[in-house]
This record gives sequence, structure tokens and C-alpha cells, in this order.
Amino acid sequence: MWRSAARACLGVVSCAVALSSCAERQPVDPALVQAGTITAAGIRGRIAAIADDSMRGRATPSPALDRLAAYAAQAFSAFGLGPAPATGFIQPWTSPGGTAPNAVAILDGGDPGLRNEYVLFVAHMDHIGTASESLGCIAADADSICNGADDNASGVAAVLELARAYAGLRARPRRSIIFLLVSGEEEGLLGSRYFVAHPVVPLEEIVAAINFDMIGRNARDSILVIGMDRSSLGTIMTEVGLAHAELGMRPASVPWRPGGSDHVSFDSSGVPTLWFFAGVHPDLHRPSDTVDRIDAEKAARVVRLAFYLGLEIANRSPRPVRTAPAPPSGRPVAR
Ligand SMILES: [Zn+2]
Repeated sequence: MWRSAARACLGVVSCAVALSSCAERQPVDPALVQAGTITAAGIRGRIAAIADDSMRGRATPSPALDRLAAYAAQAFSAFGLGPAPATGFIQPWTSPGGTAPNAVAILDGGDPGLRNEYVLFVAHMDHIGTASESLGCIAADADSICNGADDNASGVAAVLELARAYAGLRARPRRSIIFLLVSGEEEGLLGSRYFVAHPVVPLEEIVAAINFDMIGRNARDSILVIGMDRSSLGTIMTEVGLAHAELGMRPASVPWRPGGSDHVSFDSSGVPTLWFFAGVHPDLHRPSDTVDRIDAEKAARVVRLAFYLGLEIANRSPRPVRTAPAPPSGRPVAR
């Protein structure tokens, strides 16, 4: 974006005197402005709140998980997003231990011919609770709370920041955008499986599902992207990464593997998917997965990259095409 703006500037005779005065006269790119509002401080603040000890590791189900879903619904509403038809901002589902929440919101698209198609961003809110809940959290000395800052407060922060940034665009993206936060991931993708079985819009009209699960650790200059070899989203991802080299965030394609996170629920239903993932670390599923170990500056650049990616998918006329074989379930493959 900067480069094209600079080219336009250099072609204007009156701007040739001083680039600084030229820059002042250039119309500001709204996408660039909104991407710039996604900051490390914003990401860190959300992760700190979601992964606070008071959230008790967000087991499914738990009062803390309900509080997080309510917080997300309130944020979606404050951003000016709409609720999902039929369910509202909260889609309840029945987990083995009781009712658990998904939170969902929609930004209506600006193109009458494309607004009934959807780009979906997803992340899971839940984690594995405390050592006493026997979900795999192992106490470390006196610390018995598995905070799940990277897994997956980082992904929830990403979806909330994307929702805020997209809602602030003056011109809406052509396709509609769904922001989905699920629970029950740690028990086997339960919330996202429920969503694809009970989608709030026709599943075949979801053109892409972009998942964030653990984006706040490891190498500062790259992010693993799983699923680039499964659909034309891979090409779009590569193009967007090259167009926004200023982010210093290289999308690194990883060969598809079954399992991993909630994108699998969508892939199994034929929806083209990508998973943004910064890789594993020794604090995974330990009480030491805390906000002080998060690289929020990296996460902010990952989310800015995803912002540009989502905008490109939403605005590009042809919808993404799946190139991987049809899922074995025999369900119709999304076009
Ligand atoms: Zn996770």
C-alpha cells in the first residue's frame, strides 16, 4: 500500500518539490489506517484479561468461559456488529459437562451481489482449567491454574481486534464477515463441530474459514500457515504476504496434517481453511503459559497480516477454490 501510494505521489508534478508535503496531500488508505489500529498494546491487554488467574483456565464448561463469551458479545455489540440470525451473539451448545457458549457476530458486506457470502474468522476461547479439574493441567509448585495465554487467549484477542478493525472501515468489505469464538476445542473441537452442524448462515456460503490458535510465541519474523496446500487461499496468502512485506511477517506454508485445531471442523465440511499457528513451546498446557511470555508485538503483526488477507478474500470476485480432495464424509464441497 505504501509503495503504490508513493508511486501515485511521484507522478504528480506539484508533489515533486517535497515528498513530505506530497505525503500530506495523499488520500489516506482506510485499510492501512485500520490495520494500524491493531497494536501490541491492544493485543496484550486483551490477552492479559482473558488469561488472568480469575478466569481459572477457562475449562468447558465453566462460569469463566460464560463470562468470556459475554465479554465478547458485549464487545461485538459495541463495535456495531450484528448478531447471528436465530442465535444472537451467543450460540449455546451442550457439552458433556453442561451448556457451553460459542460467541458469534456478523459484519454485513457492502456488495449486494456478494454480501450473502461470508469470510469467517475463528478462535477457541476455552483452555484446560486448573489442576483440580483433571483436563490435563499439571500444577507447577503452588501454581495450579493453566492460564492459556498463548493457547488460546492470543487467538481470541486476534478475532476481537479484527472485529474492531473491520467494523471501523468506512467502506465495508464486499462479502460479509463472521467473527466466531468457540468453546470445547480442548475436548475435541466440540464447539466448532457444533457450529458446522448448526451454522448460522448456509455453510456452503462460507467461502473461507481462518483459524487462530496460538499466535504469540516463537520466531518473530514468520508465522506457520496450515492449509495453504488445500485451496486457492494459499495463493492469496502468498500474494498478501508479499504485498505487505512491511509487516516483517512471512507466512510459512506447512503441509496439511489432520487434526490440530478448529479449522479441521470447517475443512471436514468442505470449507477452504487456513490456520495461523506460531508453533509449540514448553509452556503449552502448563501453568507457565502466561501473558508475560507472549510476544504481543509479533502477534499484532500476525493479526495485521490476517486483516489484509481477510479483506482480499472478501473483496476478490471469484470465491476461493478448494484443491484438496473432497472430504471423506461425502458432504458437499464448498465452491
Ligand atoms: Zn488451542
